[in-house]
Amino acid sequence: MQRTIEIADFELPRGAVTIHTLMAMDQAAWEHLRGEINFRRARQPDRPLARCRLCGGAVYIRAQTTRSGNVPMFAHYTDATAGDCPWYQGANLVPDNARAAQYQGHQECALHRWMCDTIANLLEQDPRCAKVTVDRYLKPAIEDRGRYPDVYAEIEGVGRFAFEVQLSKPFAFEIAARHQHYQAEGVSLIWVFRGLDAELPQGFRDVISFQRGNAFLFDEAAFNASIQAGGLTLSAWLEGANGWLKPRFARLDDLDRGTGRSVFLEDRRTPGLIEHCRAAREIWRPLLRTGAPFDFANPATLEKFAPAWASIRSHVPALSAWKDAYWYETEMRGVPHFLEIAAILFSIARTAIDGEDRVYVSRYNKEGALVAMLNARLSGFTFMPYAALFEAMLTGTRAHDYLERTSLRTALRKARGKVKQVGPEHAIWTAAARLFPEVYNGMLRAELADLRALPTWAAPGTAINREAA
Ligand SMILES: [Zn+2]
Repeated sequence: MQRTIEIADFELPRGAVTIHTLMAMDQAAWEHLRGEINFRRARQPDRPLARCRLCGGAVYIRAQTTRSGNVPMFAHYTDATAGDCPWYQGANLVPDNARAAQYQGHQECALHRWMCDTIANLLEQDPRCAKVTVDRYLKPAIEDRGRYPDVYAEIEGVGRFAFEVQLSKPFAFEIAARHQHYQAEGVSLIWVFRGLDAELPQGFRDVISFQRGNAFLFDEAAFNASIQAGGLTLSAWLEGANGWLKPRFARLDDLDRGTGRSVFLEDRRTPGLIEHCRAAREIWRPLLRTGAPFDFANPATLEKFAPAWASIRSHVPALSAWKDAYWYETEMRGVPHFLEIAAILFSIARTAIDGEDRVYVSRYNKEGALVAMLNARLSGFTFMPYAALFEAMLTGTRAHDYLERTSLRTALRKARGKVKQVGPEHAIWTAAARLFPEVYNGMLRAELADLRALPTWAAPGTAINREAA
C-alpha cells in the first residue's frame, strides 16, 4: 500500500486542501495550482506555497497517469527532509496498534501546528497587530508544554491575547494555573478547540466553565469566515438552557474581557448564579415590612408567611425534621421560630443594602435599631444558639462594621459561651445559606467575587462606616 499526502496546507487564503478535494478538481484548476507551486519554487525555494500537513515539508502536485487520464496527487519534493514522514511515498503503514497510535499522534500534532500557524497568519492580517509569536516547541498534550502560549498576539487598542489550541483533553489544574498566570500578566487567554463532541470530557467542560459557558472553535466554518473577513474569526458556541445555541462568529473585538479572568462573547453563567440567589428570596420581599413587627406565632401571620415557609422548606427539606425535633426538645413551634430568625437575617441584609438601620422585627427603626435588636435577641436563650449565624451574616455583608460595637461584641461572646452554636451542618444554617448564598456559600461567593458580580451589599472591603458605639 502506497501512502499519499492526505492534506496539503497552502498559504492563505487557500488553506488546507485534502487529497479528495484535489482529485475532485477540474483539470484546469489543479494544473493552475501545480503551476503556481512550481513558479513559487523557482522564485523562492525556501518559501513553498504548499506544505505537507504531517511533516511540514514542501509538496508539489504530481500527475499520475491512469487509464482514465491524468490524476493529481500531492508528493514530497525528493530533496525534502521528509524521510520520516508517515505520508512519505513508499513508507508503508504497518497495521499494528503501536504504529497506528503513533500515526494518530502525528496527525494530531500536525493539526495542532497547522491551527497555530493559521491563527497566527490571520492575526497578522489585522493592521493593528503589533506582535505575533507561535510556540514552535509545543506538543499536543498540555503537560508537555512550556509556559509559552501556543499563539501570542498584541493587538493595538484591543489587548494582548494568548491562544491555547486544545485538541486533546486538558487537565483541570493546568487550566486554572494558566488562567491565573495570564490574568496576572494582563493577557487574555482564549482556548481554541477544533470541534465539540456530544460527550465532552471534563477537561473541555472545565475550560468552557472558565469561559462562562462559551466554547471557541477554529473549525472549517471559522476558517472560511476568517478568510472572508481578512482576519481571525472564531466560531463561538454558547450554552443554552438545553444544549448549545446556534453558533455565532466572533472577532477579537467582539469579546468581553471585562472580568479579567476569562474571555467570552456572552456570559452564560453569571446570570444563572444571580438568579439562583434571587429566586429563594423573592417570595419574602412583599411579606416583610420594616417598623411593623410581626408576632409570628399569631395564626393570621403564620398563614400569611405560609408560602415563604413552604418555599424555603422545598429548598431545604431537612427543615421538616428540624421542626419536629425542635418541638420535641422545646415544646415550641418551629415555624414561628424559623420565621423570626429569617426576619433577623433579612434585617441585616436590608441594612447592608440601604446603608442605614432597617429592622423587620421591632417597631424601633432609628439609628442603632439593628444592634439594639440583635443585643435583645441574643440576651435570651431562644436565640443564643444563632450568635455564630448572625455574626457570619454581618461579616459577609457591608454591615460588618457593626461588629465593632462593643455592646454587640459582648452579646455575641456571651451567647457563644453559654450555649452550643448552630453550625453549617444544621438545617437552619443550610436554610440561611439558601436565602443568602452570597454570604454563606463560600464557593458561590468566591465565584461571584472573581467575576466581580458580588452585589455591593455583600462585598467585602466596603462598610456602612459608622463610628463604633
Ligand atoms: Zn510529509
